[in-house]
Amino acid sequence: MELKVPQNDEKMRKPIIAGNWKMNKTNAEAVDLVNELIPLVKDVSDVEIVICPPFTALSEVYRVIDGTNILLGAQDVYFEEKGAFTSQISCSMLKDAGCVYVIIGHSERRQYFGETNESVNKKVKAALNSGLKPIICVGETLEQREANKTMEIIEEQVKGALDGISNEEMSNIVIAYEPIWAIGTGRTATPEQAQEVHAFIRNLILNIYDSDIADNLRIQYGGSVKPDNVKELMEQEDIDGGLIGGASLEAESFSKIVKY
Ligand code: PEP
Repeated sequence: MELKVPQNDEKMRKPIIAGNWKMNKTNAEAVDLVNELIPLVKDVSDVEIVICPPFTALSEVYRVIDGTNILLGAQDVYFEEKGAFTSQISCSMLKDAGCVYVIIGHSERRQYFGETNESVNKKVKAALNSGLKPIICVGETLEQREANKTMEIIEEQVKGALDGISNEEMSNIVIAYEPIWAIGTGRTATPEQAQEVHAFIRNLILNIYDSDIADNLRIQYGGSVKPDNVKELMEQEDIDGGLIGGASLEAESFSKIVKY
């Protein structure tokens, strides 16, 4: 039997490209967007495609994408199972709506809604226990980068999020590196800047877990990814996908990113 040796330009990890729609799209708009997206990406099998609409549109979108190559994700979750937590959404509600993935610890949640490394960790544990796959967001502010604190902040966020997470559970985790200064600003990290942090995260995982887990972990880059910069980012050794905000709100641009 011939053994397949991965070539330099061929990654063992299946790329994952996720669209974070944030607080955009009514149900009708969401359905229009996925109806436009489905035919554009229907032949893509080498990239995992995820879309994360707002909570209100999850079920409606799921009805349209069910059976296609597009998976559903949510933008947040609460760690309690049920009860008197007005406004919150549980893991079982997300699963019931058709979600496979859930974004946890997005910088906008950390910045505007008091999300901490501790609450991120609780949400990651709740998600894994329910069978949802967390996409854990980490990233530094411009101030932290300029003060040479990027790696320190990333280490704190990664270790905080993964506290108590077992080796087996790691196979269901995706990490998204999103420098805050690059989100929604049109200012992308250079491929080299992104690669440096991705390699740092993979090395952290190697130190906390083992080389198999580190090699298999998918690390997405997020921050003003567009059709014209996605390729050079994806060519980096440790970049395994993208978390896309603005450019995921139109089928044409999102599909071009998916088909980089
Ligand atoms: C995001 O919100 O995760 C993001 C990366 O946004 P944008 O692509 O708009 O910078």
